[in-house]
Amino acid sequence: MSTFDFDLFVIGGGSGGVRAARVAAGETGAKVGLAEEDRYGGTCVIRGCVPKKLMVFASGYPEMVAEAQAYGWDMSAGDFNWDHFHDKLTTELDRLEGIYRKLLAGSGVESFDARAKIVDAHTVELSTGERKTAKHILLAMGGRPVIPDFPGSELAISSNEIFHLPKLPENILIVGGGYIASEFAGIMNGLGVKTTQFYRGEQILRGFDQEARDLIASEMIRKGVDLQLNTNVASLEKAGDRIKVTDTNGQETLFDHVMFATGRRPNTDDMGLEEVGVKIGKKGEVIVDEYSQTAVPSIYAIGDVTDRVNLTPVAIREGMAFVSTVFRGEPMPVDHELIPSAVFTQPEFGTIGLSEEEAKAQEPIEVYTTNFKAMQSSFAGGEEKVLMKLIVSQANRKVLGCHIVAPAAGEMIQLAGIAVKMGATKEDFDRVVAVHPVMAEELVTMRNPTRTG
Ligand SMILES: Cc1cc2nc3c(=O)[nH]c(=O)nc-3n(C[C@H](O)[C@H](O)[C@H](O)COP(=O)(O)OP(=O)(O)OC[C@H]3O[C@@H](n4cnc5c(N)ncnc54)[C@H](O)[C@@H]3O)c2cc1C
Repeated sequence: MSTFDFDLFVIGGGSGGVRAARVAAGETGAKVGLAEEDRYGGTCVIRGCVPKKLMVFASGYPEMVAEAQAYGWDMSAGDFNWDHFHDKLTTELDRLEGIYRKLLAGSGVESFDARAKIVDAHTVELSTGERKTAKHILLAMGGRPVIPDFPGSELAISSNEIFHLPKLPENILIVGGGYIASEFAGIMNGLGVKTTQFYRGEQILRGFDQEARDLIASEMIRKGVDLQLNTNVASLEKAGDRIKVTDTNGQETLFDHVMFATGRRPNTDDMGLEEVGVKIGKKGEVIVDEYSQTAVPSIYAIGDVTDRVNLTPVAIREGMAFVSTVFRGEPMPVDHELIPSAVFTQPEFGTIGLSEEEAKAQEPIEVYTTNFKAMQSSFAGGEEKVLMKLIVSQANRKVLGCHIVAPAAGEMIQLAGIAVKMGATKEDFDRVVAVHPVMAEELVTMRNPTRTG
């Protein structure tokens, strides 16, 4: 008989932790406890993917209405009612959190509304003062936004606060060039807020395919975002109920809000981890092997706290692989290769595999691209541009990367991602008959390479 209180104790009730706890308890019969210090559902549900996507939807309507007018509809968008949207958003997040709590209870997981920290390889201490022992401990504490330290930095907000502004601002400065900053620049702009985005580098969305980055940036500018590259915030100062921003070019501008999305940090501070022998990396991330095991054999870690690929479906995969390895006796390493993902900028971006730049550095390639105006917006006189791009290995003809900038690109890349993950060649793509008339047909009709490299 086990001498521990639990077979598994999970710290963190976000995407990864909840999935691992539910599956271990519900499907393998393990006795599972879970501690969550804030709200169940974690970053994705409460202050990430879900509320963000709802804001993306909300921000897209003015453009749709303008397009509808061009199609003959007699309609106008009117004003956006932030209070109405925010009330609905709050209700929806409450509903989702309730579902997460129910799912845990329904699987037999014992939940603790408390902060937990590690005492030893098999013991956690809760903020209530209780101690719980477990054969295995799973760290799933996620990460949090970090605002850098500079004069006036306390006046800035992060992505956590943007969902709960007391009212829609007249103008906003978004600082950062990553996907979160770029998505919120599009959201705010779409909601009718005068939006400025500062990024200290040459181009937003560093690490993604350059041609896609350039198109997204130019489209964002065309839609109204004041994107200022090679620019950062030097200082912030209170100016009545506004914020005076002095930028690194010496210019001063007043904004209602300044949102920083320049970095996130794993939640490993003051957790007692290093004291028990868990190794922590330079960015505060828990170091794990391919089975998500830490340097302490009874302690595993999944999701953003390990800073591998910080996406919800990856945290979930890592949670499932952990359960398979530890509770089903079927060791399952986590496959981090060829993960499709979407960036909900406006225009949307779907991507999998190597960028042209990465592929070129690796081997000789062919690049197939097509640029065109989307039929729906073009009919309405719109300028919306679409990019479809395949990166192909000259040696074995495999599609190494697929990049799509288009309405619903996230939906498209999920499906194209199956083919790329299966190792499809360019000729496999070509063998598929096109679906007509849809944008994605271009993925199977690009005959000649645009360039080689
Ligand atoms: C603005 C934004 C937009 C995003 N959009 C997307 C997207 O479109 N698609 C996508 O795939 N991903 C997106 N992400 C990333 C995604 O949210 C994360 O990758 C995912 O939530 C990671 O899951 P997790 O389980 O590792 O951590 P989390 O979901 O962060 O959960 C960790 C939980 O642990 C709790 N916790 C922390 N420390 C303790 C402690 N000591 N004791 C008890 N509880 C603790 C926290 O309160 C939290 O609830 C987005 C993130 C942000 C910030």
